[in-house]
Amino acid sequence: MSRRGWRKGRAVTIDSSDIEFSGFSRTLKGKSACARPEKRAGAAALIGDCAASGRTLTVRGGGHSYGDAAFGRGGVVLDVSRLNRIHHADWTSGALIAEPGLTFRELFMIAGPKGFAPAVAPGFSAITIGGAFAMDVHGKNHRRAGGFSRCVRAIDLRLANGDLLHCSREENADIFAASAGGLGRTGAIERLHLALAPAPPSLMRQETIPVDGLGAALARLEENTGAASVVYWGDLLNARDADAVKGAVIAAAPDPAAPPIEAGDWAPLAAPPLGLLAPFYNELSNRAFNAAYGRKLRAARGGASVPLRAHLFTWDGLSAWNRLYGRRGFFEYQFVLPGEHKDRIGTILNRLIENGARPYLFAMKLMQAGEGLLSYGAKDGVSVLVDMPATARARAALDAADDAVADAGGRIHLAKDSRLGAAAFQRLYASSLSAFRAVVGRVDPDGVFASAMIARLGLDGAS
Ligand SMILES: Cc1cc2nc3c(=O)[nH]c(=O)nc-3n(C[C@H](O)[C@H](O)[C@H](O)COP(=O)(O)OP(=O)(O)OC[C@H]3O[C@@H](n4cnc5c(N)ncnc54)[C@H](O)[C@@H]3O)c2cc1C
Repeated sequence: MSRRGWRKGRAVTIDSSDIEFSGFSRTLKGKSACARPEKRAGAAALIGDCAASGRTLTVRGGGHSYGDAAFGRGGVVLDVSRLNRIHHADWTSGALIAEPGLTFRELFMIAGPKGFAPAVAPGFSAITIGGAFAMDVHGKNHRRAGGFSRCVRAIDLRLANGDLLHCSREENADIFAASAGGLGRTGAIERLHLALAPAPPSLMRQETIPVDGLGAALARLEENTGAASVVYWGDLLNARDADAVKGAVIAAAPDPAAPPIEAGDWAPLAAPPLGLLAPFYNELSNRAFNAAYGRKLRAARGGASVPLRAHLFTWDGLSAWNRLYGRRGFFEYQFVLPGEHKDRIGTILNRLIENGARPYLFAMKLMQAGEGLLSYGAKDGVSVLVDMPATARARAALDAADDAVADAGGRIHLAKDSRLGAAAFQRLYASSLSAFRAVVGRVDPDGVFASAMIARLGLDGAS
């Protein structure tokens, strides 16, 4: 079945209405119609059609969000992955204007050899710059550099009424702030005006510092805030509790002796079929893996040179790791607490374990306050990430943990969420929700821009 939508003489094809979409965590699904226009005019025509006919529209970038942010239930998905052109590049200043479907891999491949790169990049290079802005994603350097929105000077936003609005920190600043991390609720980003930074070299020097216990891990992280990037990995699964966790802080700096980035460093990587291992992926095998990985990591104390791509985009060669969890999928619980309450992290983790969540993966990063109204971040914050199989017990444990995170003034990363309900979301995002709703009420009062996540979080209405 195919339908042609017409506006201003342009055509866009809407594919079959029963395409099934799923998030990366494989816990949520939804069926929608889908269009994948090649030109911005086609996208604009589809938005006009949806607004006129009362159909909701979900903008989709790479579709790599963990939950239901990039699809709807019913309505139309506007897949912008073919809108990936660069419209303007100034290779003296690093100013770049590009369409939203450009991926980080493409951006590094094109800008890297010219000596430029975004100062912030998420852990997977197939993510689009539009999706990265709409979730205001972070890298391993949030405390220093903030979220991806900091690399964006302005956006050209297609509104539900058809207008194309230039939004920046100076012009339509409230709409810019609502769109950074705004889940595509304010409109469809047609172009991003990026401010790229000088590119790092092709190798990073990584220093591994073994640490025992959560308190020591937090202290070592803070001691390394000056590093270009810093993260912590810990074996919580084999630990009695958070105080007994063993792990390592990994701090990195550009290797001054390394050659510059080359386009050949960014070829697509094949993903090994990790789903074949799903029958063997359980608590026992994860205990063994974590113990062996922890030993190897802690033994590697001191420095080692690592290719920039492996350092930044850790998941590029392992992009099918979500399939290890099998058909039921997994939860990634990523929460941030402000620095003044980071001493509560241990209690939250211990309660999760007591309540039956199995922390197969545990990592931490340093954060600052997020820029956008719904951005993930917190002042002097610490971001904690725990992965676990999506069981009913894990869900109940996480539901209970949401209250503790909200009580501490924390937030949950919506890019990773597939579980929050509207009430918990409202508690977690209370400080900026009314400002966000005020902008949405102005730019899209009829709720044209929507998604299953937007409905789940109670953001579909105008107020
Ligand atoms: C392996 C892996 C590693 C990851 N690592 C990190 C990490 O290190 N840090 C981090 O913060 N996140 C990380 N993520 C999460 C990921 O960065 C976010 O979910 C990101 O938003 C996905 O981008 P995407 O292009 O796939 O967008 P999608 O998932 O397709 O969309 C994300 C959101 O953006 C909206 N959107 C997309 N394009 C537009 C547009 N043009 N206009 C308006 N709205 C739009 C969508 O409606 C949706 O709400 C990771 C995800 C994976 C799968």
